[in-house]
Amino acid sequence: MHIRSHIIISAIVGFALYPRQPKQMLIVTAAGTLVDLDHLVLYALRSGDWSIVGALRYDRYRHGYVHQGDNRPRYGSLRSWLHQPMVTLPLLWSITRQWPQLRPLAYGISLHLLLDHLHTLIYILLVLPKSAYGTLKRR
Ligand SMILES: [Zn+2]
Repeated sequence: MHIRSHIIISAIVGFALYPRQPKQMLIVTAAGTLVDLDHLVLYALRSGDWSIVGALRYDRYRHGYVHQGDNRPRYGSLRSWLHQPMVTLPLLWSITRQWPQLRPLAYGISLHLLLDHLHTLIYILLVLPKSAYGTLKRR
């Protein structure tokens, strides 16, 4: 998901959750957006290029069509453990049990992961049952 979408949706959810608490609203928005900094750090570590312009250029190249003979380097998945919901969410929400003041952070990060993995969730909930049903029906 694009960073712009993360900012807008996180701000809307932050405002909905904390309409009279601007600090908490900003934390939800920041957390819901800044999780993607791991892409930047991993790109910089792997490529040696610490410029934001270089990272944005690589991001555009990475999502574009690869022409035959294009031998520019590719750096694999640029997702850290922060983008792994099965690791991050239990850890995060167990921390908020001890420190409830961190809930806006947890809401923002959870929202970010939900938005990033929405297509997988839709596939699991909507497409997979139908395909499994189709497989069973054919037997
Ligand atoms: Zn992300």
